[in-house]
Amino acid sequence: MSVYVRNSSVTDPLVAPEGHSNLYVLVPTINTRHEVDWPGMQSAYRDKVLDRIEAQTGMKDLRGRIVEERMITPQNWCEDGSIFMGATFNLKHTLNQLLYLRPHNRYSKFRNLYLAGGGTHPGSGLPTIYESARISANMVSEQFGSKYDRIDLTMPLLRSGS
Ligand SMILES: Cc1cc2nc3c(=O)[nH]c(=O)nc-3n(C[C@H](O)[C@H](O)[C@H](O)COP(=O)(O)OP(=O)(O)OC[C@H]3O[C@@H](n4cnc5c(N)ncnc54)[C@H](O)[C@@H]3O)c2cc1C
Repeated sequence: MSVYVRNSSVTDPLVAPEGHSNLYVLVPTINTRHEVDWPGMQSAYRDKVLDRIEAQTGMKDLRGRIVEERMITPQNWCEDGSIFMGATFNLKHTLNQLLYLRPHNRYSKFRNLYLAGGGTHPGSGLPTIYESARISANMVSEQFGSKYDRIDLTMPLLRSGS
């Protein structure tokens, strides 16, 4: 289990009442295709996550300090957010489906269908998704002969010699 923890109150005091913190914990899990009983195992899973944080950080008494909490599972993402299979990060970040090996921006079976987003080349995460949109927009412009300013993101790096 990998656990990402962020205490945004350190840099923004307005995200929690005075004297409190806003702790955000992100734990990548499997998607809803695996038919996990999320409502049934949610509480035990929460305990595992808190055990891990308490064991591996200085927050040894974290449980006793929680005043308000909200847990979002893949099932919630799926049912409340219309996220396919609750997979907010889309396809797994494994080598065989990263970057060029992710589904391509132009859908292979239809000449006029372009894709953009976390499930498409180059991958998930917001900067990469904007790049995916840029690539698709450029391809659409090229196919239909629209004029656009081509921005090569590698040029500033090459110019500065980095
Ligand atoms: C808790 C969390 C924290 C994250 N933190 C970060 C971060 O710090 N940095 C980072 O770079 N990335 C982060 N991400 C990842 C990032 O948010 C996602 O990779 C990104 O939002 C995916 O964008 P997308 O456009 O591919 O899909 P989405 O943002 O999922 O957009 C798809 C949209 O399509 C809609 N939709 C679904 N089905 C239909 C339909 N049939 N008809 C019409 N609309 C439909 C959905 O409702 C949704 O609005 C985080 C994700 C989560 C869940």
